[in-house]
Parts: sequence; C-alpha cells; structure tokens
Amino acid sequence: MRLFYCPECNKEEIRNDDPYKNEYTINNMRDGYGRPIRHYKCECGNYLAGSMDINGWVYDKDAILYCKETIKGYNRGGCYYDFNMSFNGDKTDLFERAKIVYEDRKQRGLRRQSPILEQRMNGEYK
Ligand SMILES: [Zn+2]
Repeated sequence: MRLFYCPECNKEEIRNDDPYKNEYTINNMRDGYGRPIRHYKCECGNYLAGSMDINGWVYDKDAILYCKETIKGYNRGGCYYDFNMSFNGDKTDLFERAKIVYEDRKQRGLRRQSPILEQRMNGEYK
C-alpha cells in the first residue's frame, strides 16, 4: 500500500495501485533515513506531492501523520526544503528541479511517439 499526499491542495489517498506512475518527478532517498519519497506531479500542479510505501502502517494513524509531515517537509516552506537545496550535490531549487525532470521526460515521451522518419530527418533517431 502507498500513501499519496499533496501538501498544496491537501489531496490524500491510500491505494494499492499507483495512479501517478507516469507523473513521477524525483526520487527522494532522504539520504538513507527512513522510507524514501517518490515525488510526483499532483493535479493541482505541485511537482513535489509525495508517495510513500506504508506497508505495515496502513492502520497506524500516527505513522500516516508522520509520513504526511515528512512529505510536507520537502515542499516549499517545509523544514527539509532548504536543507535539501544541496541534495545530491545539485543546488537547483527542489521544486524547479522536479519540474525540469518531469517536463523533460514528457518531452522525450512525445518525441518517441512521433514517426521515426520525422525523427531521422531531424537527426534525432539513433
Ligand atoms: Zn495537489
């Protein structure tokens, strides 16, 4: 089971499937502390909504609250947000980085769908 939580619009879901599997932005290993967060783009436009594995915690309200607070901490204004500015040695703003990763992947996805001939003419097909 996974918790999906967006601190911007407060959308919260606990699900078995993964409705955001094509919407992921960055994988946050949190420097190896605790369970990693997979950030995704929420419908509201927040690129730092987060999904966490909550196996074993599904009925533990405190644990769920802790997960939500952790995800919130990595969002703008959160307690880990500034600390995370140097995350993986990259000083780009976390929100901007998530946006770049997401939009870049979407662009590449679109290119893959275009006809191969067209890509060849553009020198993109390898
Ligand atoms: Zn949202």
